[in-house]
Amino acid sequence: MIDFHQVHKAYRVSGRDIPALQSCDLHIERGEVFGIIGHSGAGKSTLLRLINRLEEPSGGRIVIDGVDVTALGADGLRKFRQQAGMIFQHFNLLSSKTVAANVGMPLKLAGVPAREIEQRVAALLERVGLKDHANKYPAQLSGGQKQRVGIARALATRPKILLCDEATSALDPQTTAAVLQLLAEINRELGLTIVLITHEMDVIRRVCDRVAVMDAGVIVEQGPVAEVFLHPQHATTKRFVQEAEHVDENDQRDDFAHVQGRILRLTFIGESTYSPVLGQVARETGIDYSILAGRIDRIKDTPYGQLTLALTGGDIDAALARFEAADVHLEVLRLSLIHI
Ligand code: ADP
Ligand code: MG
Repeated sequence: MIDFHQVHKAYRVSGRDIPALQSCDLHIERGEVFGIIGHSGAGKSTLLRLINRLEEPSGGRIVIDGVDVTALGADGLRKFRQQAGMIFQHFNLLSSKTVAANVGMPLKLAGVPAREIEQRVAALLERVGLKDHANKYPAQLSGGQKQRVGIARALATRPKILLCDEATSALDPQTTAAVLQLLAEINRELGLTIVLITHEMDVIRRVCDRVAVMDAGVIVEQGPVAEVFLHPQHATTKRFVQEAEHVDENDQRDDFAHVQGRILRLTFIGESTYSPVLGQVARETGIDYSILAGRIDRIKDTPYGQLTLALTGGDIDAALARFEAADVHLEVLRLSLIHI
């Protein structure tokens, strides 16, 4: 659906070119929710705004749904933009217009007849759960409701792509969860391709299929969310994951220094999350274990579990082999039996 080939973007600031995006190759599939995570200034908004050409690339090619958008003229660009709706951190609603008028605005601009606008706005408001708020003004709505208006407005022209620029960053955790759920529903039911940028790994974990991690204008890591989240490679990715899990690696290292045994981290994913592997392995191999840290959660719709264990006694090699055979991912954090 979206292909970036060696896309480059520099901003000209007081006569100098400042790079914001470098050698960017990206491939986003039709119908997926693709996340882009990075700290402030990493180049996320630049990347997103290149997709609907709110920014002009300085180099490279951007192909969307088979069309080279870097080559579009003004007319082609206007039509193309109707296929890519966008929502924003601060909603960008017109405060002097009602909810219905805000949602209907893109249709009015596209010259859709008033009667049809009315019907489509009603259906859109129903879709986002704001049926009874059509005649209110933005100031009368909560943050979550405002973002629902933003989503309805973005969907008005029946786009194929929805671009979300930190769409939940101004919302509290509960409202964030509800808005993400709405986005997931829209993705499923309308088959829309969603590109979502955020600085929170938790947002990625809840709704995205794949993720790209950005650092200083460069994509440093990308892949399926489960892979990137559970086995991060790049230092930036590791930091995001630790933030999401509220783990401080230094604290953990200090804690583990007082523990006896080999320290392992086991990762279960999918069905194996709920199977009694650990108990079976302990019985069969005579190992003892204590749980140092643990978490069971979901990545989108897939359950996963991660346990950090200290193992003592028994047949340790047999235990490791048994875990491997049960498709449990193993990481040895400390091999020596006792830390001195
Ligand atoms: P993010 O969305 O990840 O916070 P941005 O894409 O907004 O990052 O910005 C990336 C870099 O480009 C930053 O260093 C920012 O200061 C710079 N930048 C963004 N927009 C402009 C602009 N219009 N003019 C000059 N520099 C810009
Ligand atoms: Mg931004």
